[in-house]
Amino acid sequence: MIKKYDTIVVGAGIAGICAAHWLQKAGEGVLLVDRKGLLAGASGAAGAFLSPRLGKGGALQKITNDAYRFALEFYAKAVPDAFFQKGLVRIPKNEADADTFFSLYEPNIDVPYRRCENADVPFIDEKAMRFGAFCFDHSAFVDPMTVAEKLTEKIETVWGIDAEPVFENGSWRIGKYRSDKIVLATGAQKLPLPIPYVTIGGVWGERIDVGSDAKLPMTLHRQISVSANVNGLVRIGATHVRGDAESEVERINRLIVDAIELVPELADQRLIRILAGHRSSVSDHFPLLGAIADFKEARASLKTPPRSLKPEDPSIPHRPGCYIVTGFGGRGFVFAPLMGKILADKITEGRAIAPELSADRYLLRALRKKSK
Ligand SMILES: Cc1cc2nc3c(=O)[nH]c(=O)nc-3n(C[C@H](O)[C@H](O)[C@H](O)COP(=O)(O)OP(=O)(O)OC[C@H]3O[C@@H](n4cnc5c(N)ncnc54)[C@H](O)[C@@H]3O)c2cc1C
Repeated sequence: MIKKYDTIVVGAGIAGICAAHWLQKAGEGVLLVDRKGLLAGASGAAGAFLSPRLGKGGALQKITNDAYRFALEFYAKAVPDAFFQKGLVRIPKNEADADTFFSLYEPNIDVPYRRCENADVPFIDEKAMRFGAFCFDHSAFVDPMTVAEKLTEKIETVWGIDAEPVFENGSWRIGKYRSDKIVLATGAQKLPLPIPYVTIGGVWGERIDVGSDAKLPMTLHRQISVSANVNGLVRIGATHVRGDAESEVERINRLIVDAIELVPELADQRLIRILAGHRSSVSDHFPLLGAIADFKEARASLKTPPRSLKPEDPSIPHRPGCYIVTGFGGRGFVFAPLMGKILADKITEGRAIAPELSADRYLLRALRKKSK
């Protein structure tokens, strides 16, 4: 028997889970499907650190830190038991990096922070702290599986569905399930529908969990992240693999060596597990969300769109009830709550998405490029 929903969300990573959560809160009948199950992709590998972006200011930093503030409040309220607000120490890796931290980044820090010295964080190796650091006392991390289970408690889910959505007779069909709308939240994996104007890339990475008695009350970040020790467990991550110059064993060893260099007490570490996944991103590194355009129709009707035509313009033709949310890079747990809310507001209230986030930006770029 065919079952009908308002929206089917494809992909039960943190992006799909948060989109489904907000859609359900807005009163939509939602079905969340995945080819494997909860957090089967990158989200299952994430250290799930909620850390702010440092930089020279600009739109990506602003959006990331808006999402960071939103995420801290969201998880603290929705999943207090899986939310560990331990604070974060951001340490420059060398003298040049320290110069960048204090002359370029510091004037642009737009979240609460303090400078810290070795005496403030005695659990960190003195040498590692020789340039000083920034402390973000609000920073936190979450337990991904507890978050996923809690947020999907009231949502209907079906696993084992390799979704190939088909639009027929005015609605979407995925196997025996039908809906007016679909949301593609498939991370860095192959899109279940072709979107010819977007290329989603993936950066492979690993994180490890180790058992340790190290006294480590805060999370640290210097190239790698080392979580605060919670109940004898420390998360260390993550590698970024673009080629395959190093083997997995070498990469994992490097994580351990780097971590011990920061916190000598971690020398007692016992490797518990290795987790890995692909982080999804698009070329401009902003999240990508919103309605998916009808590329053929857009090419015919918009031809070479003028610069004055912006993403979300009503003249852009979209496929009926077809949406996407992805491109969270190494900050899926930071971005997902706010991006899910923005997408749900778009779907249920028609609220326009900011141009730097809207998937339409890639449509307009593709149309302008084609005509050159
Ligand atoms: C090692 C590592 C460490 C990380 N650390 C952090 C961190 O500390 N903090 C942070 O915020 N982020 C971190 N990230 C990044 C974060 O994990 C990602 O940004 C986030 O998980 C992306 O979520 P997603 O839902 O978009 O994709 P995914 O989690 O990859 O989910 C996609 C889902 O779609 C499903 N799927 C795909 N195609 C189909 C189909 N056709 N039909 C049905 N289902 C389908 C997959 O099975 C999968 O479950 C890390 C990533 C890695 C790899």
